[in-house]
Amino acid sequence: MTDTVARPAPGSAHAATEEVSTIVQRRLLQTAIPGPRSRELQRRRESAVSAGFGVTLPVFVEQASGGIVVDVDGNQLIDLASGIAVTSVGASDPDVAAAVANQAARFTHTCFMVTEYDGFVDVAEALNRLTPGDHEKRTALFSTGAEAVENAIKIARTTTGRDAVIVLDHAYHGRTLLTMTMTAKHVPYKAGFGPYAPEVYRTPTAYPFRSPAGPGRATEDALARLKELVLTQVGTDRVAAIIAEPIQGEGGFIVPSPGFLPGVQEFAREHGIVFIADEIQTGFGRTGDMFASEHEGLVPDIITSAKALAGGMPLSAVTGRADLMDAVAPGSIGGTYAGNPVACAAALAAIAVIERDGLVERARAIEAQVLPRLRALADGCHMIGDVRGRGAMLAIELVKPGTTVPDPAAAKAIAAHCHAEGVITLVCGTFGNVIRLLPPLVIEPALLDDALDVIEHAIREYVNRAPA
Ligand SMILES: *Cc1c(COP(=O)(O)O)cnc(C)c1O
Repeated sequence: MTDTVARPAPGSAHAATEEVSTIVQRRLLQTAIPGPRSRELQRRRESAVSAGFGVTLPVFVEQASGGIVVDVDGNQLIDLASGIAVTSVGASDPDVAAAVANQAARFTHTCFMVTEYDGFVDVAEALNRLTPGDHEKRTALFSTGAEAVENAIKIARTTTGRDAVIVLDHAYHGRTLLTMTMTAKHVPYKAGFGPYAPEVYRTPTAYPFRSPAGPGRATEDALARLKELVLTQVGTDRVAAIIAEPIQGEGGFIVPSPGFLPGVQEFAREHGIVFIADEIQTGFGRTGDMFASEHEGLVPDIITSAKALAGGMPLSAVTGRADLMDAVAPGSIGGTYAGNPVACAAALAAIAVIERDGLVERARAIEAQVLPRLRALADGCHMIGDVRGRGAMLAIELVKPGTTVPDPAAAKAIAAHCHAEGVITLVCGTFGNVIRLLPPLVIEPALLDDALDVIEHAIREYVNRAPA
């Protein structure tokens, strides 16, 4: 482990960044996790906050930077969550913090539909430049990921004059009525919240580990099922959009087998269907490309982004072909807070940091550091069914030894062990049996190695305890 500290604010004399001392990038446990102060706050939370909000780790945060989260009891936890793939540049990057403070001092809000500001235009230009394809593009900004997905569907519907939306098994697109409907998993996202939005149809994803046709035929099989659904059940002239996450996030970090997404895109093109890539989790360098669509040379008609876009501030975007984006009637999309100026300032700073510090390459270096260790671990361990992912979006799928039967209890126990040892790990997947790693892209290699030691130890302990 190294004792280096997070990068200090470069020449920044701003109070907002001065107050925050740099955090030594080292795991440190001072109390049990959660500690007494966190437990006290948790009691207050329970009597003040709706029980509908879950929590991965009931620890309250004092400050965070680089790969470390410091809690109110003085414990230093290693961050393998990045607030769900948001804080790729770290949770208190000095440039982002300064941009937020400066913009807040100038003005916090005007509503872009009332009077305009250049930050909104700057972010739109950046997204038009960074997203795949050199065709003419336009961007619309919103606040949350779900809002971006909703608007992408509205744009696809109004420009095609069609209603139906095709989504994939294991998809996650958000929690609003339409996006919840588009999301696959019933509990906790949909149960009790119906009736759902109409005209959403689901088709299998090419999931190598679980394809009924076997890993070698996953692409062929899933494409055949998609075509059958559209051609024989829904009707091509009724389908507005097909939407896919290039690597599925909440559904289990599923990397579709090669050729599947290019096949989906080609099929959509043939039938005048808008192909939407939901890059809300995969965007901005996370998978080792600026956008995950680049991996197989996809050029989606529309891309949704959010999460890592604005360094922790709420901002989302729909970027698409100019002919689609400009065919939408004036005043028909938007929102009071859409493209908030403080969030736009944060996004410009975060994008500059990603480009200046080579964070896309850093994501590839994280893959090179982590994946071989996870593969070596899986080799002698029959409860690891699959190890997968790209860049800094990596996962371990846990199964009953030697089978493909999901083992959510193992994932839960291993994550709990990591939490107790000061490593913030998340569980995901339709079956709740996938441990996912989403470190900030700025995490130091030594800190990441320490976190991997903890995960390895947690898995070995679990294997040793479990009856053979
Ligand atoms: C997180 C996520 C969303 C929803 O974003 P919110 O900001 O939570 O509304 C949509 N799609 C994908 C792929 C996501 O990962």
